[in-house]
Amino acid sequence: MTGGAIGAKPCAMPVARILFVLPLPEPFDYAVPEGMEVSVGSYVTAPLGQTERLGVVWEILDDAAAAGRELKPVLSVYPTPPMPAAMREFILWAAKYTVSHPGHVLGMTLRARGGLSPSPTETVYHLTGEEPKKLTDTRRRVLDAAEEVGAANAAALAAAAGVSSGVVKGLVSAGALRAEEMAADLPFALPQPDLPGANLTGEQVEAAEALKAAMRGGGFAAFLLDGVTGSGKTEVYFEAIAEALRTDPEAQILVLLPEIALTQAILSRFEARFGAAPAPWHSGLADKERRRTWREAAHGRARIVIGARSALFLPYANLKLVIVDEEHDGSYKQEDGVTYHARDMAVMRAKLEGAGVVLASATPALETMVNAEAGRYTRLMLAARPGAARLPDVELIDLRRAPPEKNHWLSPHLTHALQETLAAGEQSLLFLNRRGYAPLVICKACGERLKTPGTENWLTEHRYSGRLVCHVTGYSIPKPGVCPACGAKDSLMGVGPGVERVAEEVRVLMPEARIEIFSSDTAMGGDATRGIIERMETGDIDVLIGTQIVAKGHNFPNLTLVGVVDADSGMKGGDLRAGERTYQLLSQVAGRAGRAERPGRALVQTYAPDNPAMLALADGDRDGFLQIERDVRAELGLPPFGRLAALILSAPSAEMVDEAARDIALAAPNGAGIELFGPAPAPITVLRGRHRRRFLVKSPRNVDLSAYMAAWMARLKLPRPVRVSVDIDPYSFM
Ligand code: ADP
Repeated sequence: MTGGAIGAKPCAMPVARILFVLPLPEPFDYAVPEGMEVSVGSYVTAPLGQTERLGVVWEILDDAAAAGRELKPVLSVYPTPPMPAAMREFILWAAKYTVSHPGHVLGMTLRARGGLSPSPTETVYHLTGEEPKKLTDTRRRVLDAAEEVGAANAAALAAAAGVSSGVVKGLVSAGALRAEEMAADLPFALPQPDLPGANLTGEQVEAAEALKAAMRGGGFAAFLLDGVTGSGKTEVYFEAIAEALRTDPEAQILVLLPEIALTQAILSRFEARFGAAPAPWHSGLADKERRRTWREAAHGRARIVIGARSALFLPYANLKLVIVDEEHDGSYKQEDGVTYHARDMAVMRAKLEGAGVVLASATPALETMVNAEAGRYTRLMLAARPGAARLPDVELIDLRRAPPEKNHWLSPHLTHALQETLAAGEQSLLFLNRRGYAPLVICKACGERLKTPGTENWLTEHRYSGRLVCHVTGYSIPKPGVCPACGAKDSLMGVGPGVERVAEEVRVLMPEARIEIFSSDTAMGGDATRGIIERMETGDIDVLIGTQIVAKGHNFPNLTLVGVVDADSGMKGGDLRAGERTYQLLSQVAGRAGRAERPGRALVQTYAPDNPAMLALADGDRDGFLQIERDVRAELGLPPFGRLAALILSAPSAEMVDEAARDIALAAPNGAGIELFGPAPAPITVLRGRHRRRFLVKSPRNVDLSAYMAAWMARLKLPRPVRVSVDIDPYSFM
């Protein structure tokens, strides 16, 4: 494609194909002016329409390509090392896989444009050693501050001294401070691999040696570091990082953590081991810190970057090792914009870079286990830990025998345990993976679960419409007055209420307790989330009621009771990974309780206490549990044994979205082995004023489902207000 004709002139110069940071499908051609140094991967600006846009040179064609064409010129080149070939390949691969435009994915790699330019400078002030003639109290404080913090800008010195910055300037005139221009963003200190690490145990040494050998050998190698909480996984991957740095002193290492786990504690631990703080990357960074990490990563000077999922998209110059800690964590799945799973992407990135990748977890995802068993990942085990994390005493509460009161969701046994825990001054956590509606309708008399006829898909109660709806097939009926199975009257109830309704119940039960809800609705921002975590850590919350987002690597030493409000929703139903998450949560809680040397207990409410998965859960039999999960998914052809993709559409009105859904259904290409479900109202039917519908597509593993979805999208001609997005490997069924 050509960049447009305005201001263009005939030329015989090399042609740069520029991929812009815009949702465009392909690069555009521009002329490279004489004397401009541009290579493949250069970050450049060029005119597009009326504006100057940022892009990356994707290809350079020789002069002949420009012959007879009118091309606009490249305007400027940033002094940043060109984006490496492996990164460009990764962008194209990721775009294809996620059914996104390459320019959109490129945009994810350029989230700190200040990093493209050299660091701005700022004026900093040093002590000269001279005493000012007039030494007031405020001046004294500034000099003390300068002594303590070293060279700093006027605002920082003034703040440290608690004075106005005029005092700082006054000290310059008085000869006691000297001004100097310095880069505002400093490079990161280099990590030192040879500082002493922990004295590793036998099994830790074995795991570390396997990783170190891979680092020395170079090239792609993938590992699962499977070790119970506190077994030393971090210590072991520290050794891999050290070896990567010894083997190639310019090596860059990326450590991914769930955002929520990126606390000062882990940064300090890196600093203690390597004598230098790692470069951080997460949503809470200020612009200045963000551009600094971006710049240093692109120049290859930031050797260890520790970040949340988006750190995967930084343009490392020489990436040699990627660690994905807590690899099972749900927060690795990006749900907005380009939807991707950072663990899966990390493995692909490592492959393209010829780097090592280590997935670490105490409760690996089923996907990862299956990959390890298939030999795609080498599995390294750490089984031991003094006082190793066992599951807490897990007790199944049979809700058929001891049901909660009408319109309540906590059984007498669980409410009693909550009261006991509160009385003992300890904390409780109630886990419920539902945000605002009843996901399952069940007969209190006979235990029947209402399903779409002929399927295993449960019906969800929708609050506003009074209907029962299947989120997979779209089947929907008004809520019946009698149980279709046993005929009992008024016996149908919505099970698995949202967290807010459980919170209400707890409030009535224990008015004196400090109760907090923790879900993605209540804890949107990083700060809000950290706030809740901190108050939980410091014991300012008695009962935390949360969705899956509580199932992270938190450390709540005073937490001794976990109540799983509705374990059945985990074992079947719409969200295929909820069972795994329940297991992971219980394991994590076990780790916490073990550390604080307090016995922990978990009460799991269920209508199916004989379900083998439930029994494995109660027995703390992790591998047995995973085996059952695996069998179920294999039988149903669900991931990782089959593929899933979702197509979500939204429009300002129900009529418009339904009409569009019909057109979209008609446009679906035929494909061998493809099963199409829907359109169904998305579980969140209306979001920010937009009505939503959803298709779910299932295919065998060997089908390129991304290509299928792309072909489908390419056929769609929809009115403007209708928006369509694709989610490959959906995790959330919202
Ligand atoms: P994980 O990452 O598996 O949860 P960590 O690496 O965080 O485990 O180890 C848990 C704790 O035990 C940390 O404080 C760590 O420093 C310590 N630790 C682990 N291995 C050793 C060891 N061989 N010698 C001394 N301390 C160790």
